[in-house]
Amino acid sequence: MIARRVIDDLRELARRTGTADGAQRLAWGPVWREAREWFRGRVGELGLGIETDSAGNNWVTVPGASTRTVIVGGHLDSVPNGGWLDGCLGVMAALEAVRMHAGAAPPVTLKLVDWADEEGARFGRSLLGSSAAAGSLKIDEVRALQDRQGTRLVDALAENGVALDRMLDAHRELKAVDARAYLELHIEQGPVLESLNKPTGVVLGTFGVERHMIRFTGQAAHSGSTPIPMRRDAFLAAAQTALECREIARRHSQPGAGVVCTVGVVNVEPKIVTAVPGVCEISLDQRALDAGVLAAMLRDAHEASARAARENNVAVEWRDLWRIEPRLFDPKLLALCEEAVREETGDATRLPSGPLHDAAEMVPHMPVVMMFAYSSNGLSHCKEEDTPEPYLETTIRAFLRLVEKTVAHVAS
Ligand SMILES: [Zn+2]
Repeated sequence: MIARRVIDDLRELARRTGTADGAQRLAWGPVWREAREWFRGRVGELGLGIETDSAGNNWVTVPGASTRTVIVGGHLDSVPNGGWLDGCLGVMAALEAVRMHAGAAPPVTLKLVDWADEEGARFGRSLLGSSAAAGSLKIDEVRALQDRQGTRLVDALAENGVALDRMLDAHRELKAVDARAYLELHIEQGPVLESLNKPTGVVLGTFGVERHMIRFTGQAAHSGSTPIPMRRDAFLAAAQTALECREIARRHSQPGAGVVCTVGVVNVEPKIVTAVPGVCEISLDQRALDAGVLAAMLRDAHEASARAARENNVAVEWRDLWRIEPRLFDPKLLALCEEAVREETGDATRLPSGPLHDAAEMVPHMPVVMMFAYSSNGLSHCKEEDTPEPYLETTIRAFLRLVEKTVAHVAS
């Protein structure tokens, strides 16, 4: 039973590299290295080796009759106190795909990749290895990064045989591969499949993100002596904007194409119970799968903040934090993924991915698709993260079907 073997590997990895608090495979650290050593042994049992690229990503190759290549990926690194499936479900399912083909040359070349530092949990930069391979990493933007202990990223990398200034060579190395498809299985990390009671989902793409700080400036004043109509309360303008952003998300959401807006940070000054807030800064994080919808949501938020500023007699200023465009997956691979999920579960739920994944970095370079497994209680990045085993087995079987379908498609 092949799905069983994948689950056994996952349980063993959790035993070796987790504690009662969850997975401890923080990228570039000793437990992560241990996980990779154990994985190297697993691969070795198949008579195969591991090659590490210039960004520290680990690759396993099953040469096929053709150089055309199907890549199957995931990541062994975890957040501190992480779940037993995030990232490594993709790697262990990929290992099973490799096992199925290791004996005899498949019609096309099959590659497994274990991306380095997907989580960015230690240095704050997610998708580090995959963005280097994609050529999108800006080396100078990460050069000064340090972890909480003051260890520099450049030193942590060196400890693992990776030279920061050579990381982008991984892009050249990937371009030398005749890559025709990238597949990734991941736990959903959210409540959508659970709410539909579906074990498996077809992922349409990863959300585009607009991330900004909005700063309202009014006038701090005494809370006792300043009549309400005469106030310039920056917090009320921010609060009004935050409420309006919830309406913006409601307005732009359609069935099967949900969008989100989140105000996660509120800084208020002077932060005194007896003072009208003179300054209030909030963050805004907007996400949507459709670039046009995302742009409209941002326009609406701008208008809402201007209106709130006017109505509260305060000024408003925006500052960009970060943005990424939506990364849509390949229509042909989506169709194969849907077929695979339908054959295993009877139907195929499609959903977008709110979180980014390594797969998003591959989108500009090759056809990509992802499959999601059900998340119990929608939880991830914590020890409670889980997929019930029967659902996990179903999903792994569906994913291995997808690999086979993709191999056949790329071969033809
Ligand atoms: Zn992950």
